[in-house]
Amino acid sequence: MRFDVITLFPELFAPFQSVGVNRRAFDSKAIELRLWQLRDFAEDTYRRVDDRAYGGGPGMVMLVEPLCKALAAIQADHAASGLQKALPVILFSPTGQPLTQARVQSLAQSPGAVLLCGRYEGIDQRFIDAHVDEEISLGDYVLSGGELPALTLIDAVARLQPGVLNDAASHQQDSFSDGLLDCPHYSRPEVLTVEGIEMAVPPTLMSGHHAHIAKWRREQQLTITARRRPELIEIARQSGALSKEDERFLKTLLL
Ligand code: SAH
Repeated sequence: MRFDVITLFPELFAPFQSVGVNRRAFDSKAIELRLWQLRDFAEDTYRRVDDRAYGGGPGMVMLVEPLCKALAAIQADHAASGLQKALPVILFSPTGQPLTQARVQSLAQSPGAVLLCGRYEGIDQRFIDAHVDEEISLGDYVLSGGELPALTLIDAVARLQPGVLNDAASHQQDSFSDGLLDCPHYSRPEVLTVEGIEMAVPPTLMSGHHAHIAKWRREQQLTITARRRPELIEIARQSGALSKEDERFLKTLLL
């Protein structure tokens, strides 16, 4: 799959491609990352990509014309490399829909996307109206640019590519993959002493009994989700992700 990123700071993306498990997704070409410096598409000799907003007010707006030229160049490159269908154009914006693991999963199975990173106050609305297919938000706070959201999306998609995680099953256990938050994890030592208090690993995890361990983990997931993010329980229920046994256990939490 392929991501084309339109950005004023392509240098922010390089270190990320060479570290951690994500690196495998780029080394193996499972993900091709193409960075497009918006300034290369500026009209004037100053390579200007922003200007004051009509109507006044503080802050600058990203100009529509360099954005159109950059997108046209990307689309020409897609056609030249034999891509049949246009990739969707995603803009990162606090006014977009919050990013979810479900959206990450669907993107991970797609041919890719064009990712547009905003800066300043944002981009000229006419570019959004004419060319943007989807607006995605990282959350209800304001960042100074769309580069971290783009890296976030690419990271989340990269770790779902086959062969990126050491254990292919590991992301099936992650938070949100089955609609619930993840359960706690433990490793060595079996007993940790903190200020004289012994903290043991939950005995079920040491039992070697796979069915009991699976049940313990599921109950932990249900408990943590019900306490911290009760709205996710309702969504899981409505999508049929909760079994009769899950429902029975959830009832005991209310007692
Ligand atoms: N004036 C805008 C904020 C601009 S911040 C507003 O109030 O909605 C500059 C750029 O940072 C945005 O164009 C967007 O690309 C990016 N950005 C900031 N916060 C973001 C968030 N929560 N999610 C996704 N992108 C964000």
